[in-house]
Amino acid sequence: MEQANRIKSLPPYLFAEIDKMINKAKDEGVDVISFGIGDPDQPTPDHIVERMITAVQDPSTHSYPSYEGLYSYRKAVSDWYKKRFGVKLDPDKEIVSLIGSKEGIAHFPFCYINEGDLALIPDPGYPVYNTSVLLAGGEVEFLPLKKENDYLVNFAEIEEEVLNNAKLMFLNYPNNPTAGIATREFFVEVVRLAQKHDIIVAHDSAYSEVYLEDEKPLSFLEIPGAKEVAIEFGSLSKSFNMTGWRCGWAVGKEEYIESLGRIKTNIDSGIFEAVQKAGIEALNSKNTAADEIREIYRKRRDVLVQGLEKIGWKVPANKASFYIWAEVPENFQDGEQFSKEVFQETGVFFTPGIGYGEQGENFVRLALTVPEERIKEALSRLEESGLFS
Ligand SMILES: *Cc1c(COP(=O)(O)O)cnc(C)c1O
Repeated sequence: MEQANRIKSLPPYLFAEIDKMINKAKDEGVDVISFGIGDPDQPTPDHIVERMITAVQDPSTHSYPSYEGLYSYRKAVSDWYKKRFGVKLDPDKEIVSLIGSKEGIAHFPFCYINEGDLALIPDPGYPVYNTSVLLAGGEVEFLPLKKENDYLVNFAEIEEEVLNNAKLMFLNYPNNPTAGIATREFFVEVVRLAQKHDIIVAHDSAYSEVYLEDEKPLSFLEIPGAKEVAIEFGSLSKSFNMTGWRCGWAVGKEEYIESLGRIKTNIDSGIFEAVQKAGIEALNSKNTAADEIREIYRKRRDVLVQGLEKIGWKVPANKASFYIWAEVPENFQDGEQFSKEVFQETGVFFTPGIGYGEQGENFVRLALTVPEERIKEALSRLEESGLFS
């Protein structure tokens, strides 16, 4: 049967080929150390798992949930936003639960993008922004994120006409894959541009709690006027090692939340209520679990960055997210060739940056989801390979 055009329009999935390469090596007995995995390797904190166990034993959680989420769950998100960001949200009108934030990110373009409508997407970026706009029939213009701008969008480089035509703009800070962090001035400029050009801002805040220095990342909604132009996506996945649980939310302008809810009532039936109860437990926790998680990434980062520098490759220390976004050493052609050569010589895998967009061509992404002993093992193999000397 012929596939629908919307599926045929999707770009090829680079990572499928990479998975094949890694699996083949594993079959051949190579002890692979992969820095390619954007999924925490540590378990969910015990108190959250325990709350799940009692919730799942309560038969009231066994029925269909509501698509918008339990009131108590939305209230917990609202209380957390107040405490963490000083942002007030109405649990009834400004919050909807999501089956992981990816679900909401992928559905949101269907609320506002008609055939041919333009969306602005960061490059490099999480691939879902691009593919969901394409699936909705929209057109995409990329916003380059460059090292010299600390991976913030330089709007002076974007043509006025593009901004005038755009209906939707995705942003993501702290950023995957670059680890860029938004400044308040940057967000203020985004609000001003969104008002001026009538653009919806869809901010992906998946890494707001994965910060490794004292300064905490901002919510876009902290900026005056933001709630009139924006929807923000959040998730427990990365903050509490809960990627498998599928527990997130969207917050922001009432009209956008209502639209997303309308799509969702027609497609899914919400998050399992036991998971929502565990989610409430996570949101209400005093952050000791998240503190421990941050400390683990901080230590791994320091071991990796210092170790790489010692063998001759200087990479930047990420201040947030669990990714290091590194330019390939000069004697290699690009990220893809570098990644392949390192893998063949050492069994250590770095993700080629091109998988996240054209701007990533000369970069690789290193995820800190690898235990410290394995990082040390990777470092000694890299040193022995002589590739960096
Ligand atoms: C992991 C990730 C998400 C998705 O997280 P969920 O598990 O679906 O909540 C969203 N955005 C970015 C940038 C991510 O890296």
